[in-house]
Amino acid sequence: MTLAERLNCISLHTPMMQQYLRLKAGHPDIFLFYRMGDFYELFFEDAERAARLLDLTLTKRGESAGLPIVMAGVPVHSIDGYLAKLLKTGNAIAIAEQVGDVATSKGPVDRRVTRIVTPGTVVDASLVEAATDVWCAALWLDDERASIVALNIAAGKARAVEIPAAQIGPFLSQIGAKEVLVSAAQIKECSGDWTQTIVSQQAGVFDETVGARIAISLACEHASANLTRALAALWRYASAAHDAGERGLSHVGMLEIIAPNATIAMDASARRNLEITHTLQGASSPTLFSVLDGCVTAVGSRLLRELITAPPTAPHIASARHEAIASLIAAERSVVVNPPPVTAGKLRAALESLSDLERIAARIALNNVRPRELAALRDSLLQLPALRVLVAANENTFFAQHALTLQVDPAWGQKLTIAIAPEPALSVRDGGVLADGFDAELDELRALKNGNSAFLLELEARERERTGIPNLRVAYNSVHGFYIEITNSHADRVPIEYKRRQTLKNLERYITPELKIYEDKALSAQERALAREKALFDAFVTELAASVPALQRAARAIAELDVTAQFARVAQRGDWVRPQFVSHPELAVRHGRHPVVESLVSNFVPNDCALNLKQPFALITGPNMGGKSTYMRQAALLTILAYAGAFVPAAQFSVGPIDAILTRVGAADDQASGRSTFMVEMSEAATILKNASPRALVLIDEIGRGTSTFDGLALARAIALALITKNRALTLFATHYFELTSLAAEHAACVNLHVSATERNGDIIFLHEMQSGPASRSYGIEVGRLAGLPVEVIRAARKELERLETQSKETSPQADLFAVNASIPAAQNSNEIEIISKIRGIDIDVLSPREAHALLAELTSRL
Ligand code: ADP
Repeated sequence: MTLAERLNCISLHTPMMQQYLRLKAGHPDIFLFYRMGDFYELFFEDAERAARLLDLTLTKRGESAGLPIVMAGVPVHSIDGYLAKLLKTGNAIAIAEQVGDVATSKGPVDRRVTRIVTPGTVVDASLVEAATDVWCAALWLDDERASIVALNIAAGKARAVEIPAAQIGPFLSQIGAKEVLVSAAQIKECSGDWTQTIVSQQAGVFDETVGARIAISLACEHASANLTRALAALWRYASAAHDAGERGLSHVGMLEIIAPNATIAMDASARRNLEITHTLQGASSPTLFSVLDGCVTAVGSRLLRELITAPPTAPHIASARHEAIASLIAAERSVVVNPPPVTAGKLRAALESLSDLERIAARIALNNVRPRELAALRDSLLQLPALRVLVAANENTFFAQHALTLQVDPAWGQKLTIAIAPEPALSVRDGGVLADGFDAELDELRALKNGNSAFLLELEARERERTGIPNLRVAYNSVHGFYIEITNSHADRVPIEYKRRQTLKNLERYITPELKIYEDKALSAQERALAREKALFDAFVTELAASVPALQRAARAIAELDVTAQFARVAQRGDWVRPQFVSHPELAVRHGRHPVVESLVSNFVPNDCALNLKQPFALITGPNMGGKSTYMRQAALLTILAYAGAFVPAAQFSVGPIDAILTRVGAADDQASGRSTFMVEMSEAATILKNASPRALVLIDEIGRGTSTFDGLALARAIALALITKNRALTLFATHYFELTSLAAEHAACVNLHVSATERNGDIIFLHEMQSGPASRSYGIEVGRLAGLPVEVIRAARKELERLETQSKETSPQADLFAVNASIPAAQNSNEIEIISKIRGIDIDVLSPREAHALLAELTSRL
């Protein structure tokens, strides 16, 4: 039976199942956790799916509408672990709590969905990684363009972009979106290699008028109509998830419209290949992030991750941080004693104990904050003034600016100190969260409930005297309540109005009418104390909401300071240098090192790189394992570091404007989309040729390997030629086709590089040194030997190579390329191939006499 069928005959179900089904009808596509006492129960298909995903035991209980009810449950106290598992698999969960009064309700107690947990909108500390941002996006498609709004609810940030539809995938993966909302009417148009959970939404929620109103509240009046559509859907979804109601998502202050070229564009394959946050195997280390991240705060780590996955293209943003790093490093060497200079170490020590103000602020705004987080906030706020003094001591503008944003009204710290207990309980449900002295009525109720009141002491003294039992004791436990305890040795003196409550080995416990009256009062005091504490806590959190913008600003300053101090530390330890920015296309590196590989090998060999306007293209040849990939990725990583505002591992580094890093590396089958290795290779090459400008850094690590030699060579050559003559992007092009090395002789823009290797006793030794000129040979057989191919195979390969080499002296592969067309004689070298292909490309009908003459002159001169 489906949900729809069950709803159709809803009156046949038990009253409780009716309630369940009505709630479920509001959330048909996600799990519904239905609170029943100490468990959250799942029913029917939800139960079956959850049982598989969470390894729960399925049970059948009772009957509803004549069928057994399939169910599975999770204990309330361990819900977080289950939620985390479901979120990881891209699932969302609606949680229905008991909101009515169990004692007074007739039929099933009232229940309501109070919370929806989704992969892109979750903010709970127990469900999100501290060092990773979570984004949820909504998009609207119009004429091949996408209007996207993305929300990081835990940080209170919202951003919007409008980009060509083809760039949706790269954009979503760049920001790390976990969910993307799409109109049901447009879902067919959304293909592509997205890894996000796609959540279909009714077209109606993409409402321009509603969105425009929200945009205005976010200080973004000029958002386009399409952006406001996406905004409306996103806000509705996120508000519902947090039951945000009236207060809405008040902590999201503004919608920031991002220019498409504000950050260096990297497609998913570039990010994957460069191993920025994950290795190719999917591990989190060793990666650029893992070697850089030693931030002492979680906000710092999140900013660091953002900076290296989407470095800002504006050099002045990076320069400001470079300047700040330089000043921290200079402080280290400073001899001034008074005042002592601010070093990275001091800054880090002051930041270390700060809690995650950004996320706590969001949870305050969403009314989802835990008492212990408020205690942590209190402790952090009390430390901020000292941090500000430290930061302001550095005269650099970067620090001066952040000293200002660190300012949070000290009244908030004081309020928290007065309100929150020094070590509050985990949950306000258990009481013990608000400090003594915060509220007189609460104090009184607590005193009653705790039973250590004057009355009990007085009763004990009085009864000891009256009965003459010296060790008579008045006490309390949670099972039996209040009692008077008398050891058996005094049993004969127990007054007759004492009623036995409990018998233990050597003693009896009694209750008296007087004590019973007190107990009733005390127990109801406990209930009243809890209710009062909860109400006071909620009101206090509401009051705190006014501090949220200041907390968010302070959190951003903390993140900036932490990242900068960390960059300074890394730079100092690794002897990294400050990058220079120039205004023309250039990538000039002296003694550059790969930050990750360097941390893995014992003696890394530094290398130079010089790409520029005149010579933007380097063709790299040399043996496998020689260090080509490392060299190429190094160029990209140093560029990323420079624009992220870090120093770089090199002796000298300068870079021009870069707006994209485009790569074609490795040969991974894209099994998810069912494309072959070769298809992937070619589509990556197509993307590069379509998008690379002189402001792009292009890495091509082998192209044309997925097809026959001649096909491959022809394609590789044509692609290289297009990059050299048309795109003129800064390009590192590694290839095993030696034939391509002739390009350098024909095009001044192209230079040959090779990785050096030597041979000793038949063993190849890699020097990992990049040298100018083409490689002399490929050492493929030596690498095979190194890899452990059997001796006889190596011997046979050597023989075959000799034969092929002799043969090719008679006919070169290029010759074969053209031999298929009998009307054209076999060309002798690549220059001739080009001349021939140029002649073949001539359209005589459109050539003017002057052009014909010029062309003829060029061709004869080249021969
Ligand atoms: P290729 O792309 O030419 O096949 P790689 O760049 O993958 O070679 O390098 C192979 C291995 O050589 C790397 O894993 C690394 O351990 C080592 N290596 C590369 N470059 C250097 C270098 N500059 N200094 C020291 N070791 C290096």
